[in-house]
Amino acid sequence: MLTLFERAKTFGERKAISSNNQGYSYDQLIASSNAVASNLLGNSTDLNEGRITFLVPPSFEYTAIQWGIWKAGGIAVPLCVLHPLPSIQYVLEDTQAEMVIAHKDYVSFLKPLEAELGISVVPMEAMFAENNSSLPNLSPDRRAMILYTSGTTSKPKGVVTTHANIEAQITALVEAWEWEKDDYILNILPLHHVHGIINVMSCALWSGACCEFLPKFNDEKVWEIICSGRLTLFMAVPTIYYKLIAFWDDANEEEKKKMSEAASKLRLMVSGSAALPVPVLEKWRSISGQTLLERYGMTEIGMGLSNSYRGERRPGHVGLPLPTVEMRLVDADNNSVGENEPGEFQIKGPSVFKEYWQKPDATEKAFTEDGWFITGDIGMLNDGLYKILGRDSVDIIKSGGYKISALEIEDVMRKHDFISDCAVVGLPDEEWGEVIAACIVPSNEGLNTEELSAWLKTQLPGYKIPRKYIKISELPRNVLGKVTKNEVKKLFETK
Ligand code: ATP
Ligand code: MG
Repeated sequence: MLTLFERAKTFGERKAISSNNQGYSYDQLIASSNAVASNLLGNSTDLNEGRITFLVPPSFEYTAIQWGIWKAGGIAVPLCVLHPLPSIQYVLEDTQAEMVIAHKDYVSFLKPLEAELGISVVPMEAMFAENNSSLPNLSPDRRAMILYTSGTTSKPKGVVTTHANIEAQITALVEAWEWEKDDYILNILPLHHVHGIINVMSCALWSGACCEFLPKFNDEKVWEIICSGRLTLFMAVPTIYYKLIAFWDDANEEEKKKMSEAASKLRLMVSGSAALPVPVLEKWRSISGQTLLERYGMTEIGMGLSNSYRGERRPGHVGLPLPTVEMRLVDADNNSVGENEPGEFQIKGPSVFKEYWQKPDATEKAFTEDGWFITGDIGMLNDGLYKILGRDSVDIIKSGGYKISALEIEDVMRKHDFISDCAVVGLPDEEWGEVIAACIVPSNEGLNTEELSAWLKTQLPGYKIPRKYIKISELPRNVLGKVTKNEVKKLFETK
């Protein structure tokens, strides 16, 4: 991460962060992060990879604390402000953290853990007192951060990245998406995942650009900021675009025109973290003239594949490997598969994480003997670009000898006029191995599942037609808006 700090010095007085209606320069970020590092160090010369957790909403202080931990030689572990206490306790225990730095709104919330875990809860303000310790020299191979996976398929795993990994994750995106110092981005994402931390905040700060924080997503506020004309870039998960579309739909003609014009001026809008439904891409394009650039990534690898900034952005596809990312698509025996054949993505390169925190067995299982990271995601090469078919564990349904992509069925179902959203899963079945089941959010009360089934038969082969349906008002999702399919499966048990 050392280069990040070197670069920051050259940006000096430029605005690095806008938070709580205040602007902060790179110089201020350097000074404040040095103060944090000094306060963390006290009398020692190096934190030596000690884990420092922090529960701070997206803000200037968040960034200064993250940089301060890095500068002092510690491992930064950002906590999620939306998580309940047991989830936070899990991370504190799992990382055996020495300390949690807390924004004042969270100090009393965390207090019960002080006695239980013997951890100190330090109010954020204490970190910014003047202090001038000398800072350690850091090698790029040092562990820098532990981020927990989203927990979409199982308990979140602590993913350890080094400074070199983080730098590689940043530079791949800076190059591919042509970040430059006049860029201005709005962050509306939680800052305990790669999407917000790397793709938005760190790419901006690497480039000398400005990152504005909106601590909590609010559709009206985001549209207001888009209409201000100050953004050049915007990045979000599909559910956010969904909400921005709904807000636009409810506006009057004059407001719609103003919003559309403003949105059309950004140089790039990106979607990721979950599959972007094609109707959302198309609707957003009709509103804003922007073709959302979809990319694919994971906590373990940063971003892996991306549609092209200047070339083709094909709906339903995630493009090609990013710079420095090596990728192969293989069958169960790790042999490469051909075009239009499903295979598993495996990734190599400098952005790939070091290990799962204190889980040597899980780390070993995550790599092939020749060092490829096994993503667990299935996809295929289709006319020159890659497409994600889903996660092997939950989205690839094994039924009657077929391997069926839940995402493909979902894409077709979303085209039905009476369906607003849906999630397709496989349920255990003695005869078929698994049967296909669909959980539907109807947009019209008149949705009849027999008629739906008949319509689906005009769109898909018989073995891809769901056998069971349930209707629900909202799909279960985690904080990044990803559908938690294990919970969807449970809904069928209880219905
Ligand atoms: P856990 O590993 O705890 O189950 P998770 O895999 O959701 O959670 P993340 O690392 O946040 O945790 O998410 C990475 C996953 O998100 C990828 O493995 C992939 O399944 C999914 N993903 C990311 N981008 C896309 C995309 N554009 N299309 C489809 N899936 C995507
Ligand atoms: Mg995962």
